[in-house]
Amino acid sequence: MPVPLFDTETLLAPLRPRILERISDVVAGGQFVLGPEVAAFESEFAASLGVAHVIGVANGTDALAIALRALGVAPGDDVVVPAFTFYATAEAVADIGARPVFCDVDFGTRNVTLETVRAALTPRTTAIVAVDLFGVPAPIPQLRAQLGLPVLEDAAQAAGAWLDGRRAGALGDAATFSFYPSKNLPCFGDGGAIATDDDALAEVARSLRFHGSRDKLTFDRVGYNSRLDEIQAAVLRVLLAELDGWTEGRRAAAGAYRQAGLGELVALPVVPEAASPSWHLYTVTHPRADELLQTLAAAGVQARGYYRVPLHAQPAMAPFVADQAPLPATDRLAAQNVALPISPVLGAAAAREVVAAIADATSQ
Ligand SMILES: *Cc1c(COP(=O)(O)O)cnc(C)c1O
Repeated sequence: MPVPLFDTETLLAPLRPRILERISDVVAGGQFVLGPEVAAFESEFAASLGVAHVIGVANGTDALAIALRALGVAPGDDVVVPAFTFYATAEAVADIGARPVFCDVDFGTRNVTLETVRAALTPRTTAIVAVDLFGVPAPIPQLRAQLGLPVLEDAAQAAGAWLDGRRAGALGDAATFSFYPSKNLPCFGDGGAIATDDDALAEVARSLRFHGSRDKLTFDRVGYNSRLDEIQAAVLRVLLAELDGWTEGRRAAAGAYRQAGLGELVALPVVPEAASPSWHLYTVTHPRADELLQTLAAAGVQARGYYRVPLHAQPAMAPFVADQAPLPATDRLAAQNVALPISPVLGAAAAREVVAAIADATSQ
């Protein structure tokens, strides 16, 4: 049987009647942007994260740009960003006129470390962006305690994850989420959010998402039109209630892979002690990753290599990398990672099938 990389259809099918009813309520109510559904979602998501404020915005990329500005990052500042992540993490830094300074990651966890961030600090560094890559929380409390700089947590892949008794999204000075349909907490289009405990930061972010205005009459800042809409918020309220159950399913799927002997065939991701990942992607490594992908595709297993061209090698980032230090773990991960199918409903049988296909491929 073919195994898809993501499986959202199976998840959403039983929820469809309830979701359609909620969408129908929004249509009947006639309010479509920043209304009661958004306000209710913001307070429900904040309560579940254990933070004081959630601000819904149009997508995860805007969330990053708005949060960086709300943290006080200004044009000309340097911001440390991992080189191994989705492009938007660095794009948002450049978009607000700051310079992304790329740091390496740990090969096992795929995340920044105290050492890799420290190596990228400059006299102009005013903030650090740490990504909870693939749903594994980055060591953000340690960065905050040791470096004395604000840390923005890019939690786009980490809804449902925990670190040391705290939710991903509650680890940084502020955090950002994406609700893009393939993410762990999805909506039916684009959506995003900023989460923070900081009242002043929340107020700036709230104004920036609406053209830099607090009252819709006076415009204090040049901001954005970046709003979460009522239909997406209504969908998110239904799906938020499923998130923890879905995350358990993803962890069970990762466990099934390990139980089926995956670790004897390829190198598994390393999970830091005290971390409970949300496994947005379950990404293994192999020296001949692209050959492995080809064989898996022929066997009907939809796997994929992520971020094959890391950020410091992307054409648009060329102006920022003139004196780039080598990033050996990033380069190796970019070449060798293989994301395997994962979803809350990927059962033990599918996991065994994928592992058997990998065993075939790696014995050739
Ligand atoms: C998806 C993603 C984003 C961007 O979110 P959008 O909603 O697509 O703008 C940013 N950072 C990371 C790590 C992501 O995975």
